[in-house]
Amino acid sequence: MPPRRFSFTIDCDWVPGSQPGLERLLVLCQKHRLRGTIFFAGRFAESCPDLVRDCHRHGHEVGTHGWAHGSLEEDEDFRLATYEQQREWIRLATSAVEAACGVRPVSFRAPNLRIGETTVRILAEEGYQFDSSVPARRFDMGFGRVHYTDYFWAPLAPYRPSSHHLGQPGHGPIVEIPPSAYLFPINLAALRVLGLAVLTSMIRWIARQSPHLVFYCHPFEFLPATDQRFPKNMSKWNQRGMGPANLDLVDRLIDYVFSVGYSPAALRDTVLPDPWPTTRHPRTSAPSWSVERQRPT
Ligand SMILES: [Zn+2]
Repeated sequence: MPPRRFSFTIDCDWVPGSQPGLERLLVLCQKHRLRGTIFFAGRFAESCPDLVRDCHRHGHEVGTHGWAHGSLEEDEDFRLATYEQQREWIRLATSAVEAACGVRPVSFRAPNLRIGETTVRILAEEGYQFDSSVPARRFDMGFGRVHYTDYFWAPLAPYRPSSHHLGQPGHGPIVEIPPSAYLFPINLAALRVLGLAVLTSMIRWIARQSPHLVFYCHPFEFLPATDQRFPKNMSKWNQRGMGPANLDLVDRLIDYVFSVGYSPAALRDTVLPDPWPTTRHPRTSAPSWSVERQRPT
């Protein structure tokens, strides 16, 4: 059995006022000696370069998460935007993060996990090596933000996607590490609504498909909504669930994850098994530690 790896990831959407939420998360990570991956919307990095530097100094990997995502009524959509538009967002965000901490990011997460083959092509052209956006096994059924199923059957374990279909293993230049899900995601919103006991069952199921567990949360979830500035169309339900009490929930989740043998890993430290069997059909050639459930026929 390969070692179990836990990637604690934070998506820093550009929500003015949410910065103290990131500071609290850094303290929580320090308590657990947890080094993760922190994705910045470019405008967050541009507005708060000191915080990006702090994340880097604490040993976290810094990646990018769109340009102005978080502050827009009409959000950036990497499934619908043109090649040129996506490249501009990615270049702006990359420059902002690099200017803030002196390190060029190599990991990306698409806003709202909306990603396509064009995005991955641009990421490779811009020097990226890792992506964590493919919503494998996730469908929010009216809640949440993932309502497309093109990549539902993508591997849950890290893989190198085909350049023709992001949901299938291939020879592409980027390593995909899907955010973990079992219909619902392993994130703070699910933890709040479903509770730790349900999430631990989901984590046990995911562990049978992949040695890699990817959790995510946002700085704005740890502060009262009234202290922050959201776009008008941000759901009121989501805003009601925000506050410092969520830190305790995440604290207990981390304790559980470590108690069942996971060790922390930034996404950029992901190494794929070698040799990677990409020449045969993905459903018959998955490596032994990522045996995929077959699609019902
Ligand atoms: Zn986001």
